[in-house]
Amino acid sequence: LPNTRVAVVTGGNKGIGFEVCRQLASGGISVVLTARDEMRGGEAVERLNALGLSHVVFHQLEITDASSAAALAGFLKTRFGKLDILVNNAAVGGVEYGQEFDTNEEKFSGLDFHERVEWMLKNAREPIDSAKNSVKTNYYGTKHVIEALLPLLQASSEGRIVNVSSNYGLLRHIGSEEVRQELNDVDNLTEGRLDDLLEKFIKDFKAGELEMHGWSTKFSAYKVAKAAMNAYSRILARRHPELRVNCAHPGFVKTDMSMGSGVLTPEEGARNLVKVALLPDGGPTGAYFAMGEEAPF
Ligand code: NDP
Repeated sequence: LPNTRVAVVTGGNKGIGFEVCRQLASGGISVVLTARDEMRGGEAVERLNALGLSHVVFHQLEITDASSAAALAGFLKTRFGKLDILVNNAAVGGVEYGQEFDTNEEKFSGLDFHERVEWMLKNAREPIDSAKNSVKTNYYGTKHVIEALLPLLQASSEGRIVNVSSNYGLLRHIGSEEVRQELNDVDNLTEGRLDDLLEKFIKDFKAGELEMHGWSTKFSAYKVAKAAMNAYSRILARRHPELRVNCAHPGFVKTDMSMGSGVLTPEEGARNLVKVALLPDGGPTGAYFAMGEEAPF
């Protein structure tokens, strides 16, 4: 169809990402639902096709794999010649890496979300692997997908990027005043400086010195990775005024990541992201949205 908008959603096989695909496709947008696992992604597309959303197609994407992102870019170029909307939804919660926890076990009943996570962190075998994976996926994975798809977004009349963030990525979760100011000083912040900050965080994590250096001690890697993604998003918005690059927090949503303890349904959470993806042309860029409304970083 001529002039049909094209969207890519990462981590579209379940949770909020799946709902974002459904809602965008319901609005007549051609959706490329991506997932790292062919089987899970293919099944998700079949479910949407069965709802009459035949303009949803699958493409594999492991966001931490450069060749996977390049293959997706090649597919988009051949099939559509452009990309209008990129929703960077894929992420890891940060406690599951290398660990097998049965969250339905009896010891979890009666614990709230934070208590559960605290228990999991205490019992994690290799918390450093989990922290590294969070930074690698949530920050670097997202950044590399953007870099791979940038030329296609520039081929759109107004390419949009929605980086799915979290209230945990807000600057108030960064304990060090100096780091907070640096992350907020978008005029002077560079990608190289973000790399340095993340490296320093991992070093402090390894040394057991998070608190000493002003990092948060709960969900620390998730918070730092999302804060870095927010900062990168702002850098990118300045560098590319032809695009609309925004961050959006979906709310606390019942999914696997929140271990089913959120307050919103995936449908409600996705609506808060889709609203940002579909803002009228010439709208805000370099902004943060919480539950669909613009808010400070
Ligand atoms: P889920 O755990 O339900 O879904 C996460 C999705 O990301 C899955 O499709 C997963 O794939 C995918 N994914 C993870 N790592 C990779 C990777 N390396 N490459 C490709 N895909 C990957 O989480 P939610 O739906 O809750 O989260 C979606 C987004 O919303 C995330 O960015 C999260 O940080 C954010 N968010 C969620 C909140 C909540 O309350 N749920 C609150 C605030 C923000 P697979 O199935 O293969 O694991």
